[in-house]
Amino acid sequence: MLILKFGGTSVGSVEAFQQVVDILRHAQEHDPPVVAVTSAMSGVTDMLIQAAQAAAANDEQPYRDTRNDLLVKHQIIVGQLIGNGMARAEISHILDEKLRIFERLCRSIYTLGELTPRGLDAVSSLGEQMSAPLLAAALQATDTPAQAVDAREIIVTDDTFGAANPLLDLSRERIRAKLLPMLEEGILPVVTGFIAATEKGVTTTLGRGGSDYSAAIIGASLDADEVQIWTDVDGVMTADPRIVPEARTLPELSYIEAAELAYFGAKVLHPKTILPAIESDIPIRVLNTFNAGGATTRIVRTPNNNNDTVKALTAIRKLALITVEGRGMIGVPGIAARVFSAVAQEHVSVLMISQASSEQNICFVVSTLEEGTIIKALRNALREELDRRYIDRIYALEDVAILAIVGAGMKGTPGIAAGIFNALGSHKINVIAIAQGSSEVNISLVLPDEAVENAVQQIHAAFKLHEVS
Ligand code: ASP
Ligand code: MG
Repeated sequence: MLILKFGGTSVGSVEAFQQVVDILRHAQEHDPPVVAVTSAMSGVTDMLIQAAQAAAANDEQPYRDTRNDLLVKHQIIVGQLIGNGMARAEISHILDEKLRIFERLCRSIYTLGELTPRGLDAVSSLGEQMSAPLLAAALQATDTPAQAVDAREIIVTDDTFGAANPLLDLSRERIRAKLLPMLEEGILPVVTGFIAATEKGVTTTLGRGGSDYSAAIIGASLDADEVQIWTDVDGVMTADPRIVPEARTLPELSYIEAAELAYFGAKVLHPKTILPAIESDIPIRVLNTFNAGGATTRIVRTPNNNNDTVKALTAIRKLALITVEGRGMIGVPGIAARVFSAVAQEHVSVLMISQASSEQNICFVVSTLEEGTIIKALRNALREELDRRYIDRIYALEDVAILAIVGAGMKGTPGIAAGIFNALGSHKINVIAIAQGSSEVNISLVLPDEAVENAVQQIHAAFKLHEVS
């Protein structure tokens, strides 16, 4: 059994819809049974959220405009792909009804002048409530026995609106009870991604980009053979092809490598969203809707090519390196703890930490946006140490980036770090700080932002990542 999940761009236009219909028909014919999970049409979730926010801020025009824009956006697909008059009337009726709900919700938000997380979920869930019936109708128009399924019937969550946590046992029961009989009859279910409901039936969402999560939950519950994430890139690449034109698609990755890449900014799957698949050991494949026969990446527990040392490079830009420095810190316990509890109190996440063995400084990397807050918080928390000169300076270095070098085979292979520093040194690229995770699946470097492109190109070339191993 296959689960095929389509992201927003995959259902973002008539041409894209057409591709998805072809892909699903092909899968239904060659690898049945098949379950589809779809995101909202691209841009729709943002439009819904912005309109609701404007309504809360006492502005009603945006939601009126959005209603019309959404109607047009979806009706274009209906007009192009659904020829039959009856079928057209039916889907148009569903779209109308959803848009009426949208207007009603926005009017209440406008009247109350308040947008609660629960209200926002009710609004932002509407994109998938439209795209799934639309995709099902487009499939039916090609005589494929498809049927839309509203995931609020089958995925049960707690009431953490905006990022609800699935109750997996309960969901599994409902998913199987609903989908298995459909599959038995040869029906192709088209399930709304992203959305769910509490036990009491209140609408929730799984967090932005949550359709991957929906697909993984459904895949795990049905013991699927593979969860396919159809997107607009050729799988996971060795590096960003805009920086390295000869970058290539990685045929296989481990779950851990994929998680490291995602953490350091690669447009891969969010680790949390694929957890249900990982726990059930279900492979995940990343494919390109717009290049269906092209290269793909399979993400599994233990890839065949697990001995490759460096596999992929990714960078996060727009960062600041914060340094707490002072000779008085040597041997004084508890400074690091106080530094990081001050940071935690500001709810700022730290991307990387490094401490020199001389203990004269602690450095860590945060987003540029948080830099000011952090410096202030640290100066407050460490006032006494600053007064007594245990700490000499607390300062930020701006315009840095983290370059993460990922590959499970780096573990226990000597000379990798040397290879990296040679590649950088011979091109006079200065490394500001370095950290290696204890998993040894990644080495991360802090570099001046302006050096990132060159650094990625040099390391890519030095480790011959363009060559198929
Ligand atoms: N439509 C939702 C979003 O834009 C979920 C998804 O695309 O996965 O966040
Ligand atoms: Mg989306």
